[in-house]
Amino acid sequence: MLERGEIANSWRRERWDSLRLLTPNWQSRLPGYCYDGVDPDGFMTMAEVVEFVSRFADVAAAPVRTQTTVTSVTRTETGYRVATDRGDLECRCLVLASGACNLPSVPAFQQEVPTSIERFTPISYRNPDQLPEGGVLIVGASATGVQLASEIHRSGRPVTLSVGEHVRLPRTYRGRDVLWWMEASGIWNQRYDEIEDIARARGLPSPQLVGTPERATLDLNALTATGVTLVGRLSTVRDGRALFSGGLRNQFALADLKMDRLLDSFDEWARVYARETDVDPVERFEPTRVPVSSPLHLDFGTGQVRSIIWATGYRPDYSWLDVPVLDRKGHLRHDGGVVDAPGLYAIGLPLLRRRKSTFIHGAEDDARDVVEHLAGYLANPTADSDRSG
Ligand SMILES: Cc1cc2nc3c(=O)[nH]c(=O)nc-3n(C[C@H](O)[C@H](O)[C@H](O)COP(=O)(O)OP(=O)(O)OC[C@H]3O[C@@H](n4cnc5c(N)ncnc54)[C@H](O)[C@@H]3O)c2cc1C
Repeated sequence: MLERGEIANSWRRERWDSLRLLTPNWQSRLPGYCYDGVDPDGFMTMAEVVEFVSRFADVAAAPVRTQTTVTSVTRTETGYRVATDRGDLECRCLVLASGACNLPSVPAFQQEVPTSIERFTPISYRNPDQLPEGGVLIVGASATGVQLASEIHRSGRPVTLSVGEHVRLPRTYRGRDVLWWMEASGIWNQRYDEIEDIARARGLPSPQLVGTPERATLDLNALTATGVTLVGRLSTVRDGRALFSGGLRNQFALADLKMDRLLDSFDEWARVYARETDVDPVERFEPTRVPVSSPLHLDFGTGQVRSIIWATGYRPDYSWLDVPVLDRKGHLRHDGGVVDAPGLYAIGLPLLRRRKSTFIHGAEDDARDVVEHLAGYLANPTADSDRSG
């Protein structure tokens, strides 16, 4: 295993200071290893995640070569040549486990933002002290955007949050963590080949969730109640102005509808599997409140906003992968982690094989399936095996 930094590098180097996992401690599991602390319903800080992953590496006795950056991967007759800054390796099979969130995914029109506005991404942002005094525009209202909006607003800076398609979830539902429901009702386990539009499902934004000791819900209603201003999706930046689309009401209605459908499915599961006595009565939540008016543009020249944070998602970095396995959009061509090149595999990508693949606890089942296919390939590399395993 080659790692350019240290074990748990992304949690050490690429996260903001206050971040906690949004998955509860009881859900933090890796193969043969799970959380065994005193607070199963709590949410790990980054220092705790680093400790958790590092302890797993010790327990698993994984042969990790740290401080070794892969600089290129090329095909050979028998497999792959992996060039690193500490020498080359040859292998018959290769598993790409380099992460799904190496780079911020930022729209091209970011270049049009005037240089007087300081720019951040969730990878460069650490805490509000980095930001200039004054207003902040946060683009994107998924897990990262809502969490940063809340923290930065509490620092005393006026926050404008640009909201596009989003996934609304309450932190708790009928007395249980919403992710307990996702797991118990089997939604996390839904397989990639059972999902109708897998490309769309893989691109869905992360849910509006935060892990706090209070188990608070952090939806748009919670944010506007504290004074955060909502605007529509940022459609472009032109002539020193940010232009927002006007469909907030529709965005909200859609997210509320989808949340209610999900809660309906939880209720149905509780009824069918006679779990009604384990949970509190059915709840429904106030629809997302639509602002009386929301600006359609913001003039960067007025000084109203001094910094911008692109919370518009992440993407993997495959700049070192010299094997033609990326599609036109730069996505890896794979079928459940079996990449479109012999002996090449991937793990740790959104919805790789199951809905839970995106999360730490999704790695175990995915790894078992991917390794099974890989072992079959090593045993018989010329067989035209079922690519998905
Ligand atoms: C902001 C944020 C919050 C998240 N919150 C949660 C959460 O609450 N719960 C949860 O379960 N999941 C969460 N996730 C998802 C989480 O990141 C994944 O579940 C998990 O980290 C995936 O692990 P991984 O090892 O596949 O990828 P990563 O953790 O990204 O690890 C990939 C490793 O590959 C190394 N690497 C990359 N390129 C190279 C190279 N060229 N050469 C050598 N090494 C390289 C990197 O240094 C890194 O250490 C979150 C993700 C983000 C971005």
